[in-house]
Order: sequence, then C-alpha cells, then structure tokens
Amino acid sequence: MAAYETQVVVIAGGPAGLAAAVQAAEDGAEVILVEKNSTVGGAANMGMGPLGIGTKYQKRQMLDISIEKAYRMFMEYSHYNVDGRLVKRYFDQSADTIQWLEDMGVEFEGAFRYFAKAEPTWHIVKTDQGIGPRAASFMNMALYKRAQELGVKVLLETPAVKILKDDDGFVCGVLCHDKDGNDVEISCLAAIIATGGAGANPEFIKEQTGYTWGKDMFNFAIPGNVGDGIKMAWEAGVDRVPVRIEQAAGISGVDDLPQCVGNVMSQPNLIVNLHGKRIMDEEMSTNPTFLSNAISHQKGRILFSIIDTNIAKYYAKNGVDEISLVRSDPDVSDFFDAIKAAKDSGNEGMYIADSIEELAEMLGIDPDALAETVEEYNRFCVEGDEEFFKQKKYLRPITKAPFYAAAFHCGGYGTVGGIRINEYCEACDADDEPIPGLYAAGADACNIYDDSYMFLLPGNSMGFAVNTGRIAGMEAAAYVQDVLEEG
Ligand SMILES: Cc1cc2nc3c(=O)[nH]c(=O)nc-3n(C[C@H](O)[C@H](O)[C@H](O)COP(=O)(O)OP(=O)(O)OC[C@H]3O[C@@H](n4cnc5c(N)ncnc54)[C@H](O)[C@@H]3O)c2cc1C
Repeated sequence: MAAYETQVVVIAGGPAGLAAAVQAAEDGAEVILVEKNSTVGGAANMGMGPLGIGTKYQKRQMLDISIEKAYRMFMEYSHYNVDGRLVKRYFDQSADTIQWLEDMGVEFEGAFRYFAKAEPTWHIVKTDQGIGPRAASFMNMALYKRAQELGVKVLLETPAVKILKDDDGFVCGVLCHDKDGNDVEISCLAAIIATGGAGANPEFIKEQTGYTWGKDMFNFAIPGNVGDGIKMAWEAGVDRVPVRIEQAAGISGVDDLPQCVGNVMSQPNLIVNLHGKRIMDEEMSTNPTFLSNAISHQKGRILFSIIDTNIAKYYAKNGVDEISLVRSDPDVSDFFDAIKAAKDSGNEGMYIADSIEELAEMLGIDPDALAETVEEYNRFCVEGDEEFFKQKKYLRPITKAPFYAAAFHCGGYGTVGGIRINEYCEACDADDEPIPGLYAAGADACNIYDDSYMFLLPGNSMGFAVNTGRIAGMEAAAYVQDVLEEG
C-alpha cells in the first residue's frame, strides 16, 4: 500500500478544492490534493465565472450592488432558512477573492447579469476566445498552476474513499484508491472535502430529492460527481442536511438544432401545462430556477412554450425580446431555416402543427382546453393579462399557422448540500460540534439556498465554491498550526 504523510489533505480538485489547497499552502500548510479524475477543474470547467460583490469591476461599471443589498436580498429570498453567518462571510470575502484570483493571473471580462432581472454579480473569466461556456476552465488552470508553484502535491486518478479518525475522534488520515484500485493512505491532521455533490448519481438523486434522472430531472451529470464526499462525511459523523438539485430548467430535444431555436422558444411566450392551462407570468420564466420550480409542480413535470408564425416572424425580423449570456445572440433570423432542418431530420424536440387542435394532440393536451386557453390569451393580448399580469410588451396573439411548441423539463447543474458546515467551513455533527480536523467546501456543503438556487445573484455556486474553499483552506491551516503548537 502506498503511504504519504502531510498536514492537510484536500479531497478533489474542482474550484473549491483548488482554492482550498492554494489558500492552505499560502498560509503555510503542507498540502496533498487528491482528485478522482485525470484532470482538475470539475464541473466548473463548463461554467463561466464566480460571483463577486463590491468588486472594482462593479465600481468601474457604476453598478449598484453592495454587500448589504446582496445580503438582504439573499436572506429574504431564502426566508432566513439558511446560515446567515456563512452567507455573510462568503459575500464579505467575495471581492477579495476576485482580486486574489487576478493576482494569480486570472483575468475577468467584467461583472454581468445572467438575465435582465438578475444583479450584475457574475464575474466572467476572460479567455482567448471571448465570452462563452467553459471560460472558468481558465480560472481552474490558474489555480492549479498556483497550487503547483506553492508545492502542493497533486495525485490525479486517486479517489478518496474514507476519512480516518483516531480514537479521540480527530481526523488523522484519508484513505484513497489509486487508478488500479489499490489502497493509498495519507496521514494528515486535517482534511477538506470538496467532491462537488452527486449530480451524476441517479440513485442518490432519487433517494435524496425524489426526482428520477432522465424522466423528470435532466441535470448536468459530471462524471465522478457521485456523492463520495457527502457519504464520507456522513460516515465520519457529520450531520446530514438536505441535498437539493441546483435547479435550472432546460428545453428538451433542441440541442442539435441551431441556437436560435432554443432562443426563440425560451422567450416569454405563452406557456401551458398538460391541462392546457397557463400557470405563470411567462416573463418570470427567464429565470431558469423559477421555471424549473414551476415545472416541478405540474402534471408530468413538463411545460410547453407555444408561438405562432407571426411571433416567429417578429423575432426573426426584430430579434428576440430577452437575451441571456448563455443565449446571447438576439439575431434569430435563421429560425425558419432551422425549423426546416428540424423537420427534415425528424427532430423530436420541436412540435409543428397546422392548427391548435393538432398541436394539442401532439403535446398530449385536451384540444378544447388548449383552444380555450389560446382564445383567452389572445383576448389578454388586447385587453391586458388579468390572469397573471404579464407585461403588455410580451403579449402577442397566437393566430397564424403553422404553430410551434417546445417542451421544458426540470434541469439543473448538479446537487448542492448534504454536509453541515459552519461559517469556518468546519464539518459539524448534529449538535453543531465540529469534527476536529474535518472541513468541507463547495457543492458538497452548499446549504445556503434553501429550496431554490439564487439566480438573482449569478455566479453564486462557483462563488460559493471558491470562497468556501478559501475559508476551509485558511481555517484548516490555522487548525494545523494550533495542533502543532500544542504538540
Ligand atoms: C454547464 C455548467 C455551467 C456552470 N456555470 C456556472 C457559472 O458560470 N457560475 C457558477 O457560479 N456556477 C456555475 N456552475 C456550477 C459550478 O460549476 C459548481 O457550483 C462548481 O463547479 C462547484 O465546485 P466544486 O469544487 O464544489 O465541485 P466540482 O467543480 O464539481 O468539482 C468536484 C471535483 O471532485 C472530484 N471528485 C469527486 N469525487 C471524488 C473523490 N472521491 N475523490 C477525489 N476527487 C473526487 C471530481 O472529479 C471533480 O473534479 C455550472 C455548472 C455546470 C454544469
């Protein structure tokens, strides 16, 4: 069996683990980082950037977002059903963290909103190819480089499997496996768990959240993120707190079509459920968390976005009403070409019909019910939406065939939560007592959203990962120092 000795073991090399390793090493600790995959970065390699509040970008861009404003917003949004001290420490540190990242070579495009109603807290990492998905991989590479400069030993393809404690309950090591399944034991004084949740573990998701992956839940599933850290922590005596999906709705079956299709169908169009009824002011559907929550209450956990040819022509000519940074191009003039291609290729994500009744049959909705809703909606377009108060500018009648529909399902990024931590990122038992030497950060320990991801302050989950990683790193290094001083 291979054996190592160090002061701090960081379990995993996503942004939380990388930040923890760098911070602990900067604070003088000897660190080994173990990562299950052959590369570092985790889910964050797919993302664009972390939250920052009170940063120089916001000041330069004259954006009105202070820690007090963000904190009050956040706590009200989560109904104070979360650890306010942890949230405050995270927000307080977030601007410093943006600077800390810059000091190690990360560059940012600025501070952005995800969608119009969000605050500009999303600090998108600069790449060599402009703004786009995967930008945050540049941040991860800078963290990895910095960790190596500081002498952090990184063991790739080395999953941790168990936290080891001595007879007095203090962390004394981490048991891992090498890529052939052989034991690797690392003795240490402190361990930081940051394995990114369980988004790729359908059984765990079912057990913890009730969703069935691939049926009523379509979250991103990053290989390797199967809940190892959560289970290790629970086994080590840490309190179990609810595991949730970090929800964000998705449109089904249009990924192989040009982006304009998803862009058009996710506008504040008419949205109905399987009963053919509206359920919300569709403008609010531009917040993917709100939309996913709304879907989760519907029969079959599905909703449909419906437009007619006139609306499609309007968007194709004038551009869409709402853009997000993920679907950032308002120009959808290629929509009709894309629809033709969808038809020719037999794409099943787009429903195209010559009458509302035919569309209803395709969607599995009672035709009379849908016809009634469309008739009423068309009246609202003239008289105002007395049902859900949708703004006039988004109200466009559904009259001209062909009619188009696409389905929304519950989706999300992965799981958040499971491990109870306090504001020092100490992993705690059911009496709030820290397990001595055990810390957790990132998605495994992200218990701050209550039941709904806080998309109004975007960059929140990567922000939480990097900032709690840093907190865990600094607290673990200080703990090691104390233990060594006490002999
Ligand atoms: C497509 C996409 C886009 C996103 N965009 C954004 C965004 O722009 N802004 C934002 O705030 N959030 C975004 N997120 C969410 C964000 O990426 C996560 O919140 C963040 O990556 C969580 O960091 P983490 O370090 O906790 O976990 P992860 O980044 O998931 O890293 C976990 C790591 O743990 C490793 N691991 C697992 N088990 C073990 C084990 N037993 N031993 C050792 N290693 C192990 C995994 O291999 C992985 O490397 C996005 C997510 C996705 C999927």
